[in-house]
Amino acid sequence: MAVAIHAQRWLMTAPKVPLVLEAFDASPGAGEVTVEVAGCGVCHTDLGYFYDGVRTNHPLPLALGHEVSGRVAAAGAGAEEWIGKAVIVPAVLPCGECDLCKRGLGTICRKQKMPGNDIQGGFASHIVVPARGLCPVDERRLAAAGLELAEVSVVADALTTPYQAVQRAGVKPGALAVVIGAGGVGGYCVQVASAFGAKVVAVDVDDAKLEAVKSSGASLTLNARTLEHKALKGAIADFAKQNGLRPTEWFIFECSGTAAGQTTAWGLLVHGATLCVVGFTMDKVELRLSNLMAFDARALGNWGCPPEQYPAALDLVLEGKVKVKPFVEPLPLKDINRVFEAVHHREISKRAVLVP
Ligand SMILES: [Zn+2]
Ligand SMILES: [Zn+2]
Repeated sequence: MAVAIHAQRWLMTAPKVPLVLEAFDASPGAGEVTVEVAGCGVCHTDLGYFYDGVRTNHPLPLALGHEVSGRVAAAGAGAEEWIGKAVIVPAVLPCGECDLCKRGLGTICRKQKMPGNDIQGGFASHIVVPARGLCPVDERRLAAAGLELAEVSVVADALTTPYQAVQRAGVKPGALAVVIGAGGVGGYCVQVASAFGAKVVAVDVDDAKLEAVKSSGASLTLNARTLEHKALKGAIADFAKQNGLRPTEWFIFECSGTAAGQTTAWGLLVHGATLCVVGFTMDKVELRLSNLMAFDARALGNWGCPPEQYPAALDLVLEGKVKVKPFVEPLPLKDINRVFEAVHHREISKRAVLVP
């Protein structure tokens, strides 16, 4: 018998009830690894479970957290090669064996495991996950980029979800990309679209967030609070004209996860446009779906990012094309209840990354 791995995790027992600390044995099973958590980002989705009553697939009590980086401390049978390695745990771990996975459709694998939703999550000292799909982190390159392992936890979700959206949309050099919602996920969407060669317009209702993305890939920033729908679209059209970009085929990324943002995004459809829904909200919007047909446009969504694409997304960070350091705020895991409150009340504008 293997020796028990003494670990601790913060459990959600019911919505809005303070999380409680639990001790557990983090020994891995066959094909699994135990990752000693370096950092776990606090995502909008975690707050949705905690504050808005969004149901987790795994019954409560459950440790939330699906944005994990860390070091493999133990491995079960067949996963020994991972011991000691620095890794990022993808937010969605496909089974790798079903018909969908075999056809490269891991993001819709019905047996997929999402930490903090299907299995115990990363607001913990350790997390046990399937080894398949882990993204190795080259620590020499990490150090050369001036980054800590905890800081690249955001690659697990905040970065890779927009990465997959940009990739799937087919953004190419010379494209015009509009990102609605410039904080968190949207901020990375701005940087990734820019790294793919697009000229990027960022739209938000918060001037501080717009200011932050100005130096990180946004060529134009617009505040949707001060511009009517028509004026907003007009300003983007003028920008396209001045920069020799097409008035058609815009790529629109809705990252705000709000009904207002979705309405704005829909209003920006032009001929041949691609609308990507990156943010999530339970709210509904009213729209004329026929605009897709009239504009010969398309609307896409993506549930996370296939693990195979994580190394390329991480490369953007290690090469300095996507900056993470200015957008993360490492905070002690023991303060998790206070941090949830602060993020919920928008007192922390950066991505909070909880460090055990
Ligand atoms: Zn998330
Ligand atoms: Zn599968």
